[in-house]
Amino acid sequence: MGQQVDIEALARWIREFARVVAVHKELLTQLDSAIGDADHGVNLDRGMTAVTAALDAGTSDRRAAGTTLPASAGVLLKQVGMTLVNTVGGASGPLYGTLFLRMATAAGEVPALDGPGFAAALRAGLEGVIQRGKAQAGDKTMVDALVPAVEGLDGALGAGAQLREALRVAAAAAEAGRDATTAMPARKGRASYLGQRSVGHQDPGATSAALLVAAAATALTDVHG
Ligand code: ADP
Ligand code: MG
Repeated sequence: MGQQVDIEALARWIREFARVVAVHKELLTQLDSAIGDADHGVNLDRGMTAVTAALDAGTSDRRAAGTTLPASAGVLLKQVGMTLVNTVGGASGPLYGTLFLRMATAAGEVPALDGPGFAAALRAGLEGVIQRGKAQAGDKTMVDALVPAVEGLDGALGAGAQLREALRVAAAAAEAGRDATTAMPARKGRASYLGQRSVGHQDPGATSAALLVAAAATALTDVHG
């Protein structure tokens, strides 16, 4: 049996993302000040702080059952997505919200996902982002980090890697995708108003998306089967 990403593991991933967003808040905002409106780090940190608070607080029903975490992967991911939609704003709030809401639907009411199930949910999340934001790879957005991550994850799992190894491949691919945004002119979002003047600047959303994938590689290293 392969590795299982259970509710605890998903919560570790989300908390690790919140931690690295807080650590890189200034960087994300600085990148957004060059080609946007200098709010990406602040926005995402506010959202992820609210997400973490909701995971910590739980509900009275859950606390009575001895945990603050939801009972299924789908409910946990939906709670993350809804909180982001309600707290982040801008372009990235609805897009990150959609990523987690689509992951939730793909995951369903299960206590754990296996490696291919986690990869399929992440792909569904990416497809939601593309559908909602209409960006394609090469437009200088978060999609430029997420597409190589999802492809790297599927490729490594397909070649027989364990999830933890496949996530390391995905994180490296996301970072390469993030780095490649520097040379691109922006074709979506606020940065597209700058046209060619956006060239030479790393995209803030691709930077935070690479952190999301790196957080999975960090938090899911010891998932067990
Ligand atoms: P805003 O641009 O509204 O201030 P943020 O600063 O929080 O929102 O996020 C900006 C990031 O959102 C960009 O760096 C880019 O990666 C991402 N983004 C913007 N528009 C799109 C889009 N249509 N599709 C995918 N990602 C997008
Ligand atoms: Mg902004």
